[in-house]
Amino acid sequence: MNFDDTPAEAAFRSEVRTWLEANAEPKRHTRDFVGDGLPPAERLAAARAWQAKKAAAGYAAVTWPREFGGLGATVLQQLIVRQEESRFRSTFGIFEIGLGMCLPTLMAYGSEAHKASRIRPGLYGQEIWCQMFSEPAAGSDVAGVLTRARRDGDGDEWIVNGQKVWTTGAQFSDYGLLLARTDPTLPKHAGLTMFFVDMKSAGIEVRPIRQMAGESEFNEVFFTDLRVPDHQRLGAVGAGWKVALTTLMHERLSVGAEIGLLNFDALWSVVQDAGQLQNPLAIEQLAQAWVAEEGLRLHQCRTLTAMSRGGVPGPEQSIAKLVKATLAQRMANFAIELQGEAGQLGCDDPTSSGQAVERAWAWSAAMRIAGGTDEILRNIIAERVLGLPEEARQDKGIPFNEVPR
Ligand SMILES: Cc1cc2nc3c(=O)[nH]c(=O)nc-3n(C[C@H](O)[C@H](O)[C@H](O)COP(=O)(O)OP(=O)(O)OC[C@H]3O[C@@H](n4cnc5c(N)ncnc54)[C@H](O)[C@@H]3O)c2cc1C
Repeated sequence: MNFDDTPAEAAFRSEVRTWLEANAEPKRHTRDFVGDGLPPAERLAAARAWQAKKAAAGYAAVTWPREFGGLGATVLQQLIVRQEESRFRSTFGIFEIGLGMCLPTLMAYGSEAHKASRIRPGLYGQEIWCQMFSEPAAGSDVAGVLTRARRDGDGDEWIVNGQKVWTTGAQFSDYGLLLARTDPTLPKHAGLTMFFVDMKSAGIEVRPIRQMAGESEFNEVFFTDLRVPDHQRLGAVGAGWKVALTTLMHERLSVGAEIGLLNFDALWSVVQDAGQLQNPLAIEQLAQAWVAEEGLRLHQCRTLTAMSRGGVPGPEQSIAKLVKATLAQRMANFAIELQGEAGQLGCDDPTSSGQAVERAWAWSAAMRIAGGTDEILRNIIAERVLGLPEEARQDKGIPFNEVPR
């Protein structure tokens, strides 16, 4: 496949670029996002304002159908928007979960009334969504969730008790997807049901987790006799795993998403600023980074070719995530080392490459866990790409409440 823009794509790119140049500010460094440096409430307000502007122009959810406020455009056009936007200050980590995962799940399984009332506010940044899958004992093995939803006597409501963890953005979310166990007598995957919940409901307590980079983007979420109306159930009772797979497939569809870590160009600048372009160690790191990034680019081209022919990204996407996250961490470690003793100190200047490196270093560790740990991705590649024998699974086919814990 030829990856040069077609005349129509070139025209679209130019349209997007013109709009961004008129409406957005150029990035000063790789992790330069809208509202950075402002207090949390102002940062959120700035992010919402940017999101509303982008949605009004049609660039917030390019591939969504027009009836939901998208452009009904192709994945390649979505990539064009991402490529162009990556040079400008945008948002990161506030709306992505809603737009990328929760709202597409609502489009697939929500009632007409919920679609009519929830999708546009989510698109325009008025409502924020989070995803509550992981629990203390159910991360990699997410189908092992223990949070329990029981139908109330007359059946119009569910009563939920349990705990989630690592819920990104729960502290400012309006709604959240919730995967709960509705029948523990069935095997693990069969006893799950998906709901969406109003995060401001009585019975939900959100406790922020403090991270090593200083932020608090993740939370523990506790449910104590939370009442959820049955009309907020997504999919059939017991079909929660199927619905969760829809959500996770949309996560995979976010091909080429900007994650704000170090890339080859940023590493080059760091090496150049440190006056180390002649250092053989630096040259080796730069060469390795370039080769890996080029491999990732070609891998992405292959995925896009498949998608443009109607395919969906499969387990081979795990390869890209595994390489990208480990590469980002290697580059960040090297960039820190290159700064010598200064690399061990915190850097207060948000415009300096020092702070970008510091944040990328702290974040790259998380990227090796989020969306599937390295080990889980290797298992997926082994079993589903290479066709190697399956990992032993002790709980297969056994009622969940009889699995030894
Ligand atoms: C940045 C970030 C954002 C996140 N946001 C969300 C969110 O919004 N919502 C949400 O629900 N969750 C979220 N998570 C949680 C994330 O999905 C889990 O952290 C992840 O699935 C791993 O689960 P765990 O932390 O419980 O680790 P565990 O599953 O307990 O794993 C611990 C270690 O054991 C290894 N391991 C586990 N099983 C196997 C196996 N079968 N074979 C080999 N090794 C294995 C793992 O690789 C890991 O090294 C987020 C996590 C991060 C880092």
